[in-house]
Amino acid sequence: MSILIYAENTDGKFKKSTYEAVSYAKAIAGRNNTNLIAISIGDVANDELAALGKYGAEKVLNVSNDKLKSFVNQAYAFVIAEAAKAEGANIMVLSNSFSGRGLAPRIAVKLQAGVADGAVSLPEQNGDKFTVKKTAFSGKAYAVVELTSANKVISLTPNSYKVVETGGTAVVEEFTVDFKESDFKQMLNEIVKSTDKVSLPDAEIVVSGGRGLKGPENWGLIEELAELLGAATACSKPVSDAGWRPHSEHVGQTGIAVSPNLYIAIGISGAIQHLAGISASKVIVAINKDAEAPFFKVADYGIVGDAFEIVPKLIEAVKQYKA
Ligand code: FAD
Repeated sequence: MSILIYAENTDGKFKKSTYEAVSYAKAIAGRNNTNLIAISIGDVANDELAALGKYGAEKVLNVSNDKLKSFVNQAYAFVIAEAAKAEGANIMVLSNSFSGRGLAPRIAVKLQAGVADGAVSLPEQNGDKFTVKKTAFSGKAYAVVELTSANKVISLTPNSYKVVETGGTAVVEEFTVDFKESDFKQMLNEIVKSTDKVSLPDAEIVVSGGRGLKGPENWGLIEELAELLGAATACSKPVSDAGWRPHSEHVGQTGIAVSPNLYIAIGISGAIQHLAGISASKVIVAINKDAEAPFFKVADYGIVGDAFEIVPKLIEAVKQYKA
């Protein structure tokens, strides 16, 4: 048995969710007394690659092919599956990020592997059988799945496993794959960045606004608080439907599922469809002028009051704390 973790980067830098996935994979490797190999695809500096050793990777396969500079599901899945075969790895770990969600099932098909997407804790092991707790129905519930196949793919929900530094430097090796043009049925030509703000699915703190904010002209409050906290901004569905915010910020059953350490819901009622996307949050704070708002039933902390009075006070308090 050996373990391969896909170390995802953004613009050449590894994200916290990558270190979480490496730490998680290392814990599985440690239990099984086996090697942990990482694979990185794209332009990542050698130091950054070798530093994966701090989190437990012994070896890093570096794939720097011009055709793979930008993320394409099909091509990346092909390369990762080829690396797994070359290294004899039978457990593949990756982050359940936007890319990971596309990659995990594709890698699983290529390797005839069982897949647990959105794992939230380490698997329980009984011989070759892994029992994995994972999110289901957009984070509305948890499911426990059994992986009994020889090959296994596990994608880890961001912010559900802590980064553990074990020390060490990884050996970096170039990894090349022979592929034909026809191996890639789609190619990415250009990425147009819509924002430089904190990415919502990976965010540790999310400040989210609902219809209680009355209109887009009041979103400065959400943005100012988010910026002070280093948080991503989000919203409820009606807010994005009304065009107050982009659809990429809409959280819930029909939007993005988030798993931050802190979710601050401002002027959001707490409808079941919204809660479906936030249930993996560690701490939930709700601010609502209606003491009966359903959000208070799931919130760890609640503030009953007018958002237009409370949020400016919060902003002032954070500014004073940071001063
Ligand atoms: P409202 O329900 O209008 O609530 C506004 C809240 O703001 C109220 O609780 C009010 O008390 C409070 N408020 C008003 N003024 C203030 C103030 N000054 N200060 C503080 N609080 C104030 N919704 C999602 O969010 N995500 C989804 O993915 C999603 N998917 C759906 C899928 C389906 C199939 C369906 C049927 C619905 C879906 N919805 C989804 C919609 C969902 O049911 C709710 O209608 C929606 O979440 C409500 O949004 P809201 O809380 O912003 O607005």
